[in-house]
Amino acid sequence: MSGNAIEIEGLRKTYAGQKGTGPKQALKGIDLAIPEGSVFGLLGPNGAGKSTLINILAGLVVKTAGRVRIWGFDQDVNPRQSRAAIGVMPQELNLDPFFTPRAALEVQAGLYGVPKSQRRSDEILALVGLEDKAESYARTLSGGMRRRLLLAKALVHSPQILVLDEPTAGVDIELRQMLWSNVRRLNEQGMTIILTTHYLEEAEEMCDEIAIINHGEKVAQDSTANLLGRIDAKTMVIHPASDVATLPAGPGMEIDQRPDGAIAITYRSAETSADAVLAAVHEAGISIRDVKTEEADLEDVFLELTRAG
Ligand code: ADP
Ligand code: MG
Repeated sequence: MSGNAIEIEGLRKTYAGQKGTGPKQALKGIDLAIPEGSVFGLLGPNGAGKSTLINILAGLVVKTAGRVRIWGFDQDVNPRQSRAAIGVMPQELNLDPFFTPRAALEVQAGLYGVPKSQRRSDEILALVGLEDKAESYARTLSGGMRRRLLLAKALVHSPQILVLDEPTAGVDIELRQMLWSNVRRLNEQGMTIILTTHYLEEAEEMCDEIAIINHGEKVAQDSTANLLGRIDAKTMVIHPASDVATLPAGPGMEIDQRPDGAIAITYRSAETSADAVLAAVHEAGISIRDVKTEEADLEDVFLELTRAG
């Protein structure tokens, strides 16, 4: 294999128009390589095409054009092998209300052709903290428990790649922590993880590499560290020792007075030195009680890349 868990070339999806609307181009020719063993984030605003891409990987949506290789298997040439390599936790809570968690896992295992002797239903239920609910009807489970069951279902055939579509949207802190500790553990055991999330700080913390898509096109792909490095804006926040008569000013500095009286000076570290910023503060006659600096986060990068259009 190439070292990539997933390889996508020229992926397009056009949904047929629904009543009163024309056809919708959800993916407009995406190229994407996802390294084996990574925790990979797929980010983008609502409607960007994230779920469409993931559902194509899962075999739930039929692509319009392009090539998809999963674990080295072309989806069109080796559909069975490519499907076996991937487990998907979907965004929608689509569970049969009359199945118990154990039955749901057994049915899923059957669908994937996992022989009875190799099934791990109890182990997987314990992993997601549902061992006490193994025999309860799905309709009696809370929203959080249903999400855990969806994760469990994605794992029954021991896939090399786990895909999670907005796994923590609208879930409580406890479930979020459980999900992330599971994800970390599975990744440490060698599983490649692909996730979409709305929470940029989560992506920043969890992902080794990130692709950003917008309006069906990839606008960036890089390591999380490099993406963060793309923006060199820094903000120096000065808490003055006394009332401020004159605000500091200087080339390349953007000044903002905050409600708490602090003066925030934003500058590009490649063009303006911290020395120059401090000199401007002294020149304005301000004595400094306290000072701290703020760096750009992923949200800044994200906004910059998705603002156009
Ligand atoms: P995301 O997951 O990034 O929010 P989606 O992949 O769900 O984006 O949707 C991408 C675009 O495709 C949106 O404009 C959405 O309205 C449209 N879309 C998604 N599913 C369908 C469908 N089944 N039929 C028609 N249009 C769809
Ligand atoms: Mg989605």
